[in-house]
Amino acid sequence: MRSGVTFWHRHRVVATAACYKRHNRRFPHVLRPAPATEEMNGSSKKIAVLGATGSIGRSTLEVIAASGGRLQAWALSAHGRCEELLALAQQFRPAFVVASDEAAAEQVDWSQLPANCQLLLGTSGLDQVAAAEELDVLLAAIVGSAGLSSTWAAVQAGKTVALANKETLVLAGHLVVEAARKSGATILPVDSEHSAIFQAISAGKRQELRRIVLTASGGPFLNRTLEELANVSVEEALAHPNWEMGPKITVDSATMMNKALEIIEARWLFDLTADEISVVVHPQSIVHSMVEFVDGSVIAQLSPPDMKLPIQYALDYPDRRPGVAERLDWTAALRLDFQPPDLARFPALELGLRAARTGGSTGAVLNAANEAAVAGFLEGELRFNEIVPACAAAVDNHEFDPSPSLDALLRLDAWAREEVSRWVCT
Ligand code: NDP
Ligand code: MG
Repeated sequence: MRSGVTFWHRHRVVATAACYKRHNRRFPHVLRPAPATEEMNGSSKKIAVLGATGSIGRSTLEVIAASGGRLQAWALSAHGRCEELLALAQQFRPAFVVASDEAAAEQVDWSQLPANCQLLLGTSGLDQVAAAEELDVLLAAIVGSAGLSSTWAAVQAGKTVALANKETLVLAGHLVVEAARKSGATILPVDSEHSAIFQAISAGKRQELRRIVLTASGGPFLNRTLEELANVSVEEALAHPNWEMGPKITVDSATMMNKALEIIEARWLFDLTADEISVVVHPQSIVHSMVEFVDGSVIAQLSPPDMKLPIQYALDYPDRRPGVAERLDWTAALRLDFQPPDLARFPALELGLRAARTGGSTGAVLNAANEAAVAGFLEGELRFNEIVPACAAAVDNHEFDPSPSLDALLRLDAWAREEVSRWVCT
């Protein structure tokens, strides 16, 4: 075992424990050190990549492929793209593949699977690999509330979850965090802003934190007027200037609902109040977020916009390794701009702060309404500038529950989708 790794590893644990004793509060929140790879008897970490056919899934597989055997694609899942899953299985030879859409799975000749690779079907297949004894890390990269069930299964089983699927925390943050505390599960952020905060926050103690500052690229419509936003097309909304991502999060970036969801995600990951979370527009997406301490110091994490870095950081945590992510070139001129967000043109941000402030059922309603509205927009049934008002109406009209159970949240999720369908039909 390398002594340097051990020192920093212990140092973090000691600082966390001391903070907790002094202030009766753990900091950072659910995030606690996972075992160093050296402590795993030299064997590779077994990773379940759920959502392997998506943008985060493919980036994760690039990180795994470049790890020299340190990381192993132990299980892979897909929903609609089962042929792609079969090809990935032939390339990565996992122990399990999960085809969560059973109808799509029927179209594929699974006899082509490599020997010793087992096929599982449906949501129960996802939950089974997420909670499996042999699994080291669940990389949760399913999009939307469909990611909740497997993440919930992993958290309840006390697993380490590298979380890209922010919707799970927006939907049921209070329950997920509580379940992780009880089971000893670790949740490590993959979202680039939250990874940045995670990397910067250990520069101070909980009581020394003034606020976190989430950076937002502003998406493709940063400089459009309100009138122009009324007529933007699906193609324009899907053309993000900095990031190549799946369609749902790309539209979320264009409305800035993505930042609203990230406010709520940060609230639960780092145990912050809404007043401790700010947003600044930073069009270059190089400063991934910042932590401001009481003395005025601001600690930031910088790197080019490439998800392979936060993915690898979460998979190797608490180690840092040379990786495949793009690096900053300090020999060339570099310009970084920052500006406050325009809440009139991007009202989603207020909704995010409101959900972080009120907690309870608001996040679940906002998340489901947004998923339904974005799907409606992508299908040409809703205009771009109707997405956020449809979400606001669902939040306003729902019966607020300050402390909902998982069942109550799932009922509200279904209710909010139904509410938005009225906007879609009119
Ligand atoms: P994609 O749309 O590219 O991929 C989504 C993945 O989820 C695919 O593998 C898809 O399978 C699978 N999937 C879709 N629906 C279901 C379902 N009902 N049940 C099970 N699996 C399903 O999304 P991204 O990779 O862009 O995003 C994934 C998550 O990561 C999201 O929560 C997003 O917010 C978050 N995230 C993404 C970032 C990015 O850069 N892309 C950055 C930060 C966070 P199939 O394709 O086979 O249908
Ligand atoms: Mg992000």
